[in-house]
Amino acid sequence: GSGAAPLVLELHEGDRSMADLLGGKGAGLAEMTRLGLPVPAGFIITTEACRAFLTEGGDPVGLWDQVDRALSALEERSGLRFGDPARPLLVSVRSGARFSMPGMMETVLNVGMTDEVASALTVHGEAHFAWDSYRRLAQMYGRTVLGIDGSLFDEQLTAMRASLGVATDAELDAYALKRLTSSFRQTIREHTDTDVPQDPRVQLREAVRAVFASWNGERARLYRRHEGIADDLGTAVNIVQMVFGNRDDRSGSGVCFTRDPVTGATGAFGDYLPVAQGEDVVSGVRSPMDLAELGRREPALLEELRGHLRTLETHYRDLCDVEFTVERGRLWILQTRLGKRSPEAAFRIAAALVDEGVIDLDEALTRVHGAQLQTLLHPTFTVDESVPRLAHGLGASPGAAVGQLVFDAATAMEWAAMGRTVVLARPETSPDDFGGMVAANAVITSRGGLTSHAAVVARGLGRTCVTGVEGLFVDPVARTASFGPDITLPEGTVISVDGSSGEIFEGRREIEPSAVATAILDGSTWSTDPAVSAVLRLLAHADTRRTIEVHANAEIPEEARTARRYGAQGIGLCRTEHMLLGPRRELVERLVLDDDRAGALAEIEALALRELSELLEVMDGLPVVVRLLDPPLHEFLPDLVDVSVRAALEVERGEPDPETQRRLAAVQRWHETNPMLGLRGVRLLTVLPQIVDTQVRALALATARLRARGKSVLPELMVPLVADVAELVAARARIERIVDEVAEEQGIALAIPVGVMIELPRAALTAADLAAHADFFSFGTNDLTQTTWGISRDDAEANFLAPYREAGILKTNPFETIDETGVGALVRMATEAGRAARPGLGIGVCGEHAGDPDSVEFFARVGVDYLSCSPPRVPVVRLEAGRQAV
Ligand code: ADP
Ligand code: MG
Ligand code: MG
Repeated sequence: GSGAAPLVLELHEGDRSMADLLGGKGAGLAEMTRLGLPVPAGFIITTEACRAFLTEGGDPVGLWDQVDRALSALEERSGLRFGDPARPLLVSVRSGARFSMPGMMETVLNVGMTDEVASALTVHGEAHFAWDSYRRLAQMYGRTVLGIDGSLFDEQLTAMRASLGVATDAELDAYALKRLTSSFRQTIREHTDTDVPQDPRVQLREAVRAVFASWNGERARLYRRHEGIADDLGTAVNIVQMVFGNRDDRSGSGVCFTRDPVTGATGAFGDYLPVAQGEDVVSGVRSPMDLAELGRREPALLEELRGHLRTLETHYRDLCDVEFTVERGRLWILQTRLGKRSPEAAFRIAAALVDEGVIDLDEALTRVHGAQLQTLLHPTFTVDESVPRLAHGLGASPGAAVGQLVFDAATAMEWAAMGRTVVLARPETSPDDFGGMVAANAVITSRGGLTSHAAVVARGLGRTCVTGVEGLFVDPVARTASFGPDITLPEGTVISVDGSSGEIFEGRREIEPSAVATAILDGSTWSTDPAVSAVLRLLAHADTRRTIEVHANAEIPEEARTARRYGAQGIGLCRTEHMLLGPRRELVERLVLDDDRAGALAEIEALALRELSELLEVMDGLPVVVRLLDPPLHEFLPDLVDVSVRAALEVERGEPDPETQRRLAAVQRWHETNPMLGLRGVRLLTVLPQIVDTQVRALALATARLRARGKSVLPELMVPLVADVAELVAARARIERIVDEVAEEQGIALAIPVGVMIELPRAALTAADLAAHADFFSFGTNDLTQTTWGISRDDAEANFLAPYREAGILKTNPFETIDETGVGALVRMATEAGRAARPGLGIGVCGEHAGDPDSVEFFARVGVDYLSCSPPRVPVVRLEAGRQAV
């Protein structure tokens, strides 16, 4: 080749730093060769060759010459010859890209097997081995190189097993395997007019080309899109001398880990299958034996394997997984890479490596991820196969919950108040259901995706939630829920909801609370469970490292208490509207539609005073940011359709009620087609200034009284949906007037900081102006994402966000992970402009993104002061913020 990078490299010429060129598998093989591990000899056709093949649409110039040279070297090294019946060399042709793409691309084993070789081996008394290897080649070559449907071969294997009355392929005798080889080749001839080539070099070339081409196979492309792997990397092809786990009964194949990848426990862990080639181990047809059993049969061999595992772990300083094969009692290592592990194993292994002096605590933090901690915080169902599944939907908010079915928010609240645990089932949820969702243990909906109202609110509250439940039909009138055509359950039926898997079960399943969550809530620093101890230890270390504070979004005292126990350093968002939705909506209705303004206002103020006092007291000593009323006015008013229908019915009956007509007129007066861009946030001050006044007054009064009792409460106020500085100036003047009034009444000095939410592009663009009148900024990234993209989160998921992601137009959901290039640019710009205009300006984030582990890294880079997330996410963000600081 004329390019700079080589097209072919021998295994002993490479090392682990060359993964771009050699692929992960190749780099691992090369590194193990250097370390002196027993790796069969071989060579690697580089990713450079694959890229040339794909862009030029054919074999790169000089490739086969280089392959021939490497093959001769391999023959020399092994003392065997390709296609030589007396001393046959067989090889595997294995794909292996830079990033592991398990099962996505192709591998052909036993390349070099021919009629001549098989006959010669048969003569030497190895008929079983010969025909087993040949039928495998025919099968893999037919499927991978020639594109024949693999099930055609599987069917013949099944039929052969049945006719001989055996359960597994390993029990097929040499004669059966020989007949299978013939019938596989017959199938190949029928479908392609070709046969398994009898020239091993042709086999090799065709297999290499097939591996190249598999890079662009449908499966591989989809996988890359999903994992965010670039399409132009290409795969390397590893040509490795075959060693035979199917040679005799002192041969076999296995997969093992340097530690237990499930629990994280120390000590090698793995599976071994006698008389097998590698792919049999994963296929799961025969049950393998564990390493202890292998050790009883071949103690020296296991000792040797353990030694290699120690070498690898010491070298890579992390959990490794290993493919190995034993041929006639001799051990060969065929692959290694960093091992995938369960969340609890990730923590336990990282902490163990610290104890063993392999890594330090900072590095241990880089070995775990917030998403792993998140999984560990959820309660789970104990394993029980006997409970039948009722239905299945999208796991929208994880957790395991049991409760009685109810179909409306009012019943949920009523029953919960009576001490029952309930599951709220709805076609979908709306802001009106908030109270019901708080009261419920779990929420299930028939419609909606992972970013539907139900999903978002449930995640915020830490409620288990399954959305888009297939076959679920809720009949609120009959008070039943149907799950498919055959099952209808009345209100009160106990069901179990798994918010991680999206499964729903009839009846009560046993729940185990998360040991990790319990330990964190209890403030433990140590546990008898090593995985729990590891989490506590790494979390504590993250706290010493991070500079970002972690606050919580909470309004209910109970949630705030939980947040605090989870380590929240304040409330970054208290949504005051929860006090006025649900059954209390009627108070606002009276204010807008009726004349009883004074009465309604007094009630609202009393409520606000009581609830804000409680919240402030729970958070004594820590800041609490209270947001002024935010939702669109229409959410507080009766439904236009309901009132219209009522009015029409009354007219039809000939007895129109003037009251209904008046309400209808008022609802029509305030009706908006696009309420999310309408009368909400700071704009409500034009219609409902009295509500805002009462909220401010209640907060000021609560503060004054608590301080008088010696509490050091730290309230702040935040103005939502500001687009222009004049709005902020007006709101601020109003707020300050009321705070001053209260201070005077109470005879104390009182100043409540006033901040502005940056959640409209215009606010971000005019951040310098806003900073002149704001004590702090808080990025409301949910609305900022909606308005920057011009996408309604509530509607878009099913309609086009999902198709966009499938088509690769969107790589991630911008409502889950912050869109760094667009929304992120506004966040960065506003932060810089705000701080330039007002040094020391506090900057927080209170959108859902603040609790997304993948977004924390961005906010850390921007340098915000705090992230405010739902209470159950607090430990996750603590960990993630610490990780970003090391
Ligand atoms: P994958 O990436 O799907 O694991 P591999 O290229 O690792 O594919 O190969 C598939 C199976 O064949 C593995 O179990 C591997 O250990 C085994 N294998 C690969 N090369 C050889 C070889 N030269 N000798 C024996 N077994 C091999
Ligand atoms: Mg492999
Ligand atoms: Mg908002």
